[in-house]
Amino acid sequence: MSAMKFCRECNNILYPKEDKQKKILLFACRNCDYEEVADSFCVYRNEVHHAVGERTQILQDVANDPTLPRTKDVRCVKCDHPEAVFFQASSRGEEGMTLFFVCCNPACGYRWRD
Ligand SMILES: [Zn+2]
Ligand SMILES: [Zn+2]
Repeated sequence: MSAMKFCRECNNILYPKEDKQKKILLFACRNCDYEEVADSFCVYRNEVHHAVGERTQILQDVANDPTLPRTKDVRCVKCDHPEAVFFQASSRGEEGMTLFFVCCNPACGYRWRD
């Protein structure tokens, strides 16, 4: 599988897009306005963003899990979606449990901590 690129703003997959005027290849996000020029530095960036993307994919699965509680008391800070899944998990190196929220917008999947 070749490297995919992920949006720096929202971690969604970037899709290749041709800039017909400048005749260059861009990668564009369909979730926000982020675009970047395909360039020779992308190998390094792909590795970094790939790891982030895989984590995002897991979190999107969490958002689709019907067994997890949902709340409409919070809003996603990224996309303003009014519903989120929440769960408790312990973070490495921290005492006790932390409450995590995952945005239910399938195009977003943003996670944040209480
Ligand atoms: Zn984006
Ligand atoms: Zn969101």
